[in-house]
Amino acid sequence: MEYREIPFFKPYITDAEIKEVEDTLRSGWLTLGPKTKAFEKMLADFLGVKDIVALNSGTAALHLSLVALDIKEGDEVITTPYTFVSTVAVIIQSGAKPVFVDIEPSTMNIDVSLIEEKITERTKAIMPVHIAGQPCDMDEITEIARKYKLFVLEDAAHALPAYYKGKVIGTIGHTTSFSFYATKNLVTGEGGALATDDVDLAEKIRALSLHGISKDAWKRYTSSGSWYYEVIHLGFKYNFTDIQASLGIVQLQRLQEMQKMRRHVAEMYYNMLSDIEEIELPFVKEDRETAWHLFIIKLNLHKLNIGRNEFIDRLSEKGVKTSVHFIPVHYHPYYQKMGYRKGMYPMAEAVYRRSISLPFYPQMTEDDVRYVANSIKDIISKERLKV
Ligand SMILES: *Cc1c(COP(=O)(O)O)cnc(C)c1O
Repeated sequence: MEYREIPFFKPYITDAEIKEVEDTLRSGWLTLGPKTKAFEKMLADFLGVKDIVALNSGTAALHLSLVALDIKEGDEVITTPYTFVSTVAVIIQSGAKPVFVDIEPSTMNIDVSLIEEKITERTKAIMPVHIAGQPCDMDEITEIARKYKLFVLEDAAHALPAYYKGKVIGTIGHTTSFSFYATKNLVTGEGGALATDDVDLAEKIRALSLHGISKDAWKRYTSSGSWYYEVIHLGFKYNFTDIQASLGIVQLQRLQEMQKMRRHVAEMYYNMLSDIEEIELPFVKEDRETAWHLFIIKLNLHKLNIGRNEFIDRLSEKGVKTSVHFIPVHYHPYYQKMGYRKGMYPMAEAVYRRSISLPFYPQMTEDDVRYVANSIKDIISKERLKV
């Protein structure tokens, strides 16, 4: 094989995004304004939800969900340790305590059979994370939430768009948080959005995102507005900008096309990597559609001479750049200092030891995918454990 470089991810930006950003830069209005409103409306229509609040990150959307629902010190919020750290950090920042539930290894999503035993009188919400874009078991989660009167606040950073039993993710939980970070399915560089059918909550979150001011800044400065404003909450500076919205508007128009390309890349990986005993390919449950944000393979370590880290190094030597999603949150030094210990969430830990996220982006060609697949096969042929 001739050496090639396959990056882990490449953003897919076209001239249309560049033109739209240029239009905004020339318009004289750079921050929260008409393009943000247009983007929020487009995304609300796309998902079929009553309101979308665009924010400067997915993390901000998760944080404001908690703050706006008055989740605070003395409360508990259930999530999993198998996520990006921000899911958990915002719970602590709200004052509440994160309560971890282990994952189901096949999907890497929260194991719904373990939720109820973690519920106490202090539990206020469940934050399911749709790992790699595959929806969690939302019927079971919704049922538990109803039974114990909990909010369901979804971390859908990977799940735009994803479907659970025909329903689009964004329409199920009380709030759903999306991320438009540079590597996500829809990118605005940095950015995020919160979807909800609770219009009062959306209004509160909109105010909280802009210093707690009761009206958006752009309304103040247009001819219909005035200089007067009122601060009604202890707010944050979490608002979106029209520069981000310019990217978002075009990316949203291109989303279904990009998703089709992602599905095709996934199919090519399945075709080229099936029937290799040393690896396990992503498993998607039948009643749902993943957003194909990541393509995570799991090594069958008992069939290999080398571990996951060395496997990653070997791929890197061949020019294939990979990543790992995720280092369990409780492994990080800050969380160890809080008292979490290795061994507490065995399924998350076992999956972490085995998983590699392969290069995965819409514009990957068949040759790119074949090069990755052949590199994997080559390493396995040399490191297959002889029994
Ligand atoms: C990316 C990500 C976030 C945070 O999104 P940002 O927009 O970067 O703040 C939250 N949760 C998960 C699972 C993510 O992958």
